[in-house]
Amino acid sequence: MLFEVVSPVTEQVIATVDELDPVDTERRIVLAQKGFESWRKVPPGKRAELLRSFARKVEESIEELALIEVKNSGHTISNARWEANNVKDVLYYYAGAVERLSGLQIPVAGGIDVTFKEPIGVVGIIVPWNFPMPIAGWGFAPALAAGCSVVLKPAEITPLTALKIAELAYESGIPENVFQVLTGSGSVVGESIVTNPLVKKIVFTGSTKVGVRIQTLAAQQIKPVTLELGGKSANVVFEDADLEKAAATAPYSVFDNAGQDCCARSRLLVQESVFDTFMEYFEQSVKSVRVENPELESSEMGPLISGSHRQKVDSYVDEENVMFRGHCPTGTGYWYPPTVLRVEDKNSKVLKEEIFGPVVSVQVFRGEEEAILLANDSEYGLSGSIWTSNLGRGIRVAQGIESGNLSINSHSSVRYWTPFGGYKRSGLGRELGPNATDAFCEVKNVFISTD
Ligand code: NAD
Repeated sequence: MLFEVVSPVTEQVIATVDELDPVDTERRIVLAQKGFESWRKVPPGKRAELLRSFARKVEESIEELALIEVKNSGHTISNARWEANNVKDVLYYYAGAVERLSGLQIPVAGGIDVTFKEPIGVVGIIVPWNFPMPIAGWGFAPALAAGCSVVLKPAEITPLTALKIAELAYESGIPENVFQVLTGSGSVVGESIVTNPLVKKIVFTGSTKVGVRIQTLAAQQIKPVTLELGGKSANVVFEDADLEKAAATAPYSVFDNAGQDCCARSRLLVQESVFDTFMEYFEQSVKSVRVENPELESSEMGPLISGSHRQKVDSYVDEENVMFRGHCPTGTGYWYPPTVLRVEDKNSKVLKEEIFGPVVSVQVFRGEEEAILLANDSEYGLSGSIWTSNLGRGIRVAQGIESGNLSINSHSSVRYWTPFGGYKRSGLGRELGPNATDAFCEVKNVFISTD
């Protein structure tokens, strides 16, 4: 069976891709197990060399990968280049980790105690449609470095860059069956990966609802899972902040990738004493966001991923609550304007649920304590920003917010060499950073008697 891939810019079919069934999926997992058995025996120096060669192939293909993503996902060309570069970067970074994968030697009486780190086996990586390239790379680069083989399942609607990356892996010399892309639906291919006993670890990025299902299925086999789930992060602006800078950058913290970003700061919390001044600056910056054809170098925001997703985003927007909006094209393409809402009801679904579009709600707070309470008034805890010129306050508030990734006077969320992941219903475990390979290793303790 084949399924169609549609461009969100032209609304036209741009490719057809295999829709695997459970039998195909099982066959590919058996091959991945064969791939694992050979890959784990590749000496570390050689494995590192092959990952560097894979990284170089990606590096040579940045422009091609970026253009595929622009067409398939509607990402702006500058974002798509960043995403492709991120895959190259994680491959180089974790190629270096192969040579540092070491166990411990622990002092004991009557002998020597050592620990080995052993690759866990076939790893299933299931990714969403919003950042197909980097999110896949955050899983497969450390997994391959640890000596695991990988079956990667892209989202149904955005499989094209994953398929290209698989070609690059083989061209770079990664042995057959070690890195495979399995296309198809979540309920068939995704669940077949999660429940197959040959798959020893699942890395899932996606909605909290599906994350719960995956953790439940994996629990039947005591299979470890890393879960990167939804977000509803706060952007907290204090009266002593550089208001112009905070307002100028705030649109990019929530409208980047058309708001289809788990780290989007979709709740803007502003201190009462500077509310009017800040909102004046913010309105100017929202209205200046360039929403246009994502292939243009000047484009700062593209369309939403699909017509049905646009309908879902729009269902959260009650015209009565709209403070102001930015601009977007009309006609073909799933466009949606940057939208700023003022919602008074603290229990409104606008404040509680992940909208995953270019929509931000604005709330007012009086002091530090209330800011922390409001920021934490969410089932999620993935990201967030704090704007203040008082570093002590910045740290106090960061310590008070239940979230895995915070930035003070900045909107950055991800650096591949620092850990990334969520509190509460935003996830379980951490990706990236120096310890990411541990998620793909079993630890074996061996005691050697000297008696
Ligand atoms: P989704 O949960 O619908 O799907 C994610 C992936 O899971 C897709 O590949 C899908 O086919 C697959 N899937 C669906 N049902 C499955 C099942 N029963 N078993 C196995 N696999 C299944 O999410 P989405 O709509 O593609 O992505 C948006 C969500 O992803 C948002 O909630 C967003 O916050 C989240 N996200 C989180 C992070 C993070 O790092 N925390 C990053 C990006 C996106």
